[in-house]
Amino acid sequence: MANMLDFKNPSTALTAWGTTNYIGVDMSQYKCCNTCNQILPLSSYNKRPGSLDGFRYACKSCESNRAKKWKKDNPEKFREYLSGRKVKANGNVIFSILPKDLKRLYNSCCVYCGSNENITQDHVIPISRGGHHSIGNLVPACLSCNSRKQKRFITEWLLVQKRGN
Ligand SMILES: [Zn+2]
Ligand SMILES: [Zn+2]
Repeated sequence: MANMLDFKNPSTALTAWGTTNYIGVDMSQYKCCNTCNQILPLSSYNKRPGSLDGFRYACKSCESNRAKKWKKDNPEKFREYLSGRKVKANGNVIFSILPKDLKRLYNSCCVYCGSNENITQDHVIPISRGGHHSIGNLVPACLSCNSRKQKRFITEWLLVQKRGN
C-alpha cells in the first residue's frame, strides 16, 4: 500500500484537501488540527458557528488537553470561572468587567492587609449572599486574606479579626 494516504502526515494529506482523493476518501470531511497537526475527521472537532468551515481549529482531544493544562496553570482563574458559573446558577445579573479594570485591581494592594502578593479579586458582598459579579463589588485581596474571609460580610470579617482567630 505504497500510495496509502498518511493521515498523520499533513503534507501528503493536505494536497487532497477539499477533494476526493485517489483512494476514495472525501477529504472535505477531514481537516488538519492546528495543534497536533493530525488530519482528523470533522467529527473529531467541536463545532464553532461563524468560523469558515463551522468547526474549531484544534481537535477535541487537543482542546481538552489545553483546558486541563490551563486549569493546572491557572488555578485562581479557574476558580473565578467556576464562581462565574455559580453567579449564573443563582440567577444574578452579570455585569461586564473591563479588562483594564481587572488589570488595575490585580496591580493594587490587598485592601485588608496591604500585601501586594498573590492578589485575587474578592467580592465585597459575597456572590452566595446576593452580591453581584461587577467591578463595583470587587476589591483586591491577597490570597491569604481572601481565603480567610471566605463568605463573610466585611463587618463579620472585622469581628473575626478583632477576636484574633
Ligand atoms: Zn489535535
Ligand atoms: Zn491580605
